[in-house]
Amino acid sequence: MKKMLLLSLVAVTLLFTQTAFAELTKISDNVYSYAGEKDSSPAHSFGANAGIIIGADGVLVVDTLISAKEGERFLADIRKVTNKPIKYVVNTHTHLDHAFGNCVFAKLGATVISHTADRAMLDRIGAGTLKGISNYGLKSEDMAGTEIVLPTLSFSDRMQIYLGDETVELIRTASSHTEGSLVVYVPSKKLLFAGDILFTDFHPFMADGDIAGWSKTIDTLLAMDLEKIIPGHGPLSTKKDLKEMKEYLLLFDRKARELAATSQDAAAIAAELKKILPQRSMADWMIAYNVKSRYLGKK
Ligand SMILES: [Zn+2]
Repeated sequence: MKKMLLLSLVAVTLLFTQTAFAELTKISDNVYSYAGEKDSSPAHSFGANAGIIIGADGVLVVDTLISAKEGERFLADIRKVTNKPIKYVVNTHTHLDHAFGNCVFAKLGATVISHTADRAMLDRIGAGTLKGISNYGLKSEDMAGTEIVLPTLSFSDRMQIYLGDETVELIRTASSHTEGSLVVYVPSKKLLFAGDILFTDFHPFMADGDIAGWSKTIDTLLAMDLEKIIPGHGPLSTKKDLKEMKEYLLLFDRKARELAATSQDAAAIAAELKKILPQRSMADWMIAYNVKSRYLGKK
């Protein structure tokens, strides 16, 4: 019996190991991403979707995962797809799971780019976040070799990057998931990397969010010519998921305010919210976290 249990544990571990190292998926010609990743554990970057756009002149990397280790895994997966030089790294925003792997790509000579506000945020809290990494469910060995690398180029509204035969646009409409959250748009493919402005089938992290600006930003995205959307977390998406994201945020905000007016019990409020929010299969724990960080305690 004990042996059986041990064997099944080994099987489960193997299963996990396999899903933990899903390779990059081809989304469109010359565009790859981890979209569809199911392992949302902290050491696996909370399932964040990084990706690449390959142009004639080189590669643009979108987000770098949570650590040097994770950045190295991403780099090895990139090298299975292309040997072109990695010229640019764009941080859709500078939360740890999207920007702490920057060090791996900066060492290769890539130019790291973000919105000005998120560069400032990383400068302000990056080192402290790395120091207090256990608060995020990570061990110091998970972060071995990780250094905070600030973007060397930043902008405020829009930036175009020319990769030879491909033009990529970076667009930031308003403060949303973070003050400087941006999207990466490939007009020729009607394709968008939405960063954490979109979470699909994954409860969103709202602690640093500006709900009004976020909603306005989603309206801007809905007006764009889009067929494929890669969310910050979750599977390949469409405008339908953007609409649901906006509904989720507005409903969460309205209901959480209502409930927090009469209760200080985060778990109870989260349970009520879960009944009415759009269904999501990943990161249930985020609901109570958002309640605590935005509606009960002070940030
Ligand atoms: Zn984020």
